[in-house]
Amino acid sequence: MAGVAGGSRQGPHALTALGRGLTNRCPHCGIGKIYTGWATEVKTCPHCGLVYEPTEGDTAVVDRITAGLLRLHAERMQVIAREQRTRDRFTSLHPEVAVAEVAALPGDVHDLAGLRVIGDRLTAGRTPSA
Ligand SMILES: [Zn+2]
Repeated sequence: MAGVAGGSRQGPHALTALGRGLTNRCPHCGIGKIYTGWATEVKTCPHCGLVYEPTEGDTAVVDRITAGLLRLHAERMQVIAREQRTRDRFTSLHPEVAVAEVAALPGDVHDLAGLRVIGDRLTAGRTPSA
């Protein structure tokens, strides 16, 4: 496990650390930057002193996180394949029903504003009928 200069070895939850790392923040304190500029890696956190270089124990954590992300990706791919099969089955059973595809929104749609965005995407490029 990576050490913190003059600090505790107790770190944040793995998902918290991952989220901080993905947003270019120190996985330990969430304040210091991991990269400066475009892609210049910082060796230690300027805020808490965490050494960013991986040690032997860190590779096991990285392996578990990688495995988790790959499982998540595999599950998403299975959902996409199942949705495609459902869509294909529906369009073959009901060829008279028009089907439109809309790019997914980043979050759930649960209000009128979200439905308006979907409506805008459905009607994009179409001229309104009188
Ligand atoms: Zn830090």
